[in-house]
Amino acid sequence: MQKIVSLCKRRGFIFQSSEIYGGVEALWDYGPLGSLLKNNIKQEWLKAFVQNREDVVLIDTPIIMHPKTWEASGHLKNFADPLIECKNCHSRFREDHLIKKECPNCGKKDFTPSKQFNLMFKTFLGPVEDESHIAYLRPETAQSMFTDFNLARESMRLKIPFGIAQIGRSFRNEITTGNFIFRSREFEQAEIEYFVKPGEDEKFFEEWVDAWEKFIIGLGIKKENLRRYEHKKEALSHYSKRTIDIEYKYPFGWSELTGIANRTNYDLSQYSKFSGKELIYFDEETKTKYIPFVIEPSLGIDRLLLALLCDAYQEVKGGRTETTKSVKEIEVVLKLDKKIAPIKVAVLPLVRNKPELVKKAKEVYQLLKPHFICQYDEVGSIGRRYRRIDEIGCPFAITVDFETLEKEDVTLRDRDTMKQERVKIKDLVKVLKEKLEEK
Ligand code: ATP
Repeated sequence: MQKIVSLCKRRGFIFQSSEIYGGVEALWDYGPLGSLLKNNIKQEWLKAFVQNREDVVLIDTPIIMHPKTWEASGHLKNFADPLIECKNCHSRFREDHLIKKECPNCGKKDFTPSKQFNLMFKTFLGPVEDESHIAYLRPETAQSMFTDFNLARESMRLKIPFGIAQIGRSFRNEITTGNFIFRSREFEQAEIEYFVKPGEDEKFFEEWVDAWEKFIIGLGIKKENLRRYEHKKEALSHYSKRTIDIEYKYPFGWSELTGIANRTNYDLSQYSKFSGKELIYFDEETKTKYIPFVIEPSLGIDRLLLALLCDAYQEVKGGRTETTKSVKEIEVVLKLDKKIAPIKVAVLPLVRNKPELVKKAKEVYQLLKPHFICQYDEVGSIGRRYRRIDEIGCPFAITVDFETLEKEDVTLRDRDTMKQERVKIKDLVKVLKEKLEEK
């Protein structure tokens, strides 16, 4: 894990937030490459579940909702973890996260009785800080999909089964943090509330577990690093009839990457009760009214990004480039899928002390820039530069050499096969587009 964390810092993927002040626990900044990577993952999610489907619409709603929301959803009462405190050093822990009943800080075994600690961050709406102005930062994006149920359905004339999707930030005041971006206090979720006819919920639940897993594998995660975990009946959340987590084999062990829950008609019933507005569906064909059931696939974008980085990380002993002299030396290559790689193409002049090569390479860079996220690099030997771009998972590199000046062609290197081919400059955009779209 330490290797991933240090690569992320060194190469501009992820930084500790507010690092100049020593950082803030469980908050992370996405750097220049990390933001591009994260954005690509979100775009792929939107493509898979909104663009390519006819039954899912997207919404984008505020982090702060009406405070009544959290009463209706049950979060005020139930969204809590068991907190215990070491009587010796006063460190606090999540009880179910302690493997041995022993304080990880001082080793003593004397704890206070556990109490339920609500994970929602509290704030005030407006300038008056009293009970009646308390608001909460959402701990999940899901609730707006219920409060907007009528509005989205009516405005888009949606017929069951249909889904409302959202990607956005969520906040949880986690008791124990750690494992890099796996458990943060601010993170991003991509969720869908998929409304179905009661009785058809079990079939759709199965379909969504498969679709969710297929999407994750399609982004490049190896199947053998994923497994399903079915929640035991007695451990289900208050709203759930059935929950399956898809777990990933992170370097720190198998842990939840994403979860799919059958939330029944709990949420729509609760919101109808608390708001006084009927959140029901009228079936035109059978002329009947019912409260839809809902299947909720919920994905943490940060946990997915971490899994993708871990899965793509490879060390090659003896090296891949001519810069590696010793068989013991290790080169890192990040085999990110082309779809999500932050930089798609690197443009490199063979040497930088030949102005005509530099000029030509910059022309090629300008030609490609409107089409792809590119990087220009002229510093260091060509082997060293290949090494640098392999480390950030850039799938293609273009080298401008002396032949380019005569023949108007360049060398195109493929990160995975290491094959090099000559391509005419005039064909570069077309060839790269085809290669980037190849499965
Ligand atoms: P855990 O058991 O790990 O605390 P959870 O079961 O409470 O997670 P859910 O409420 O099901 O998580 O949230 C849906 C998804 O949101 C999770 O599968 C995960 O990908 C993501 N997620 C939840 N909490 C965090 C967090 N603190 N940091 C990053 N991602 C999170």
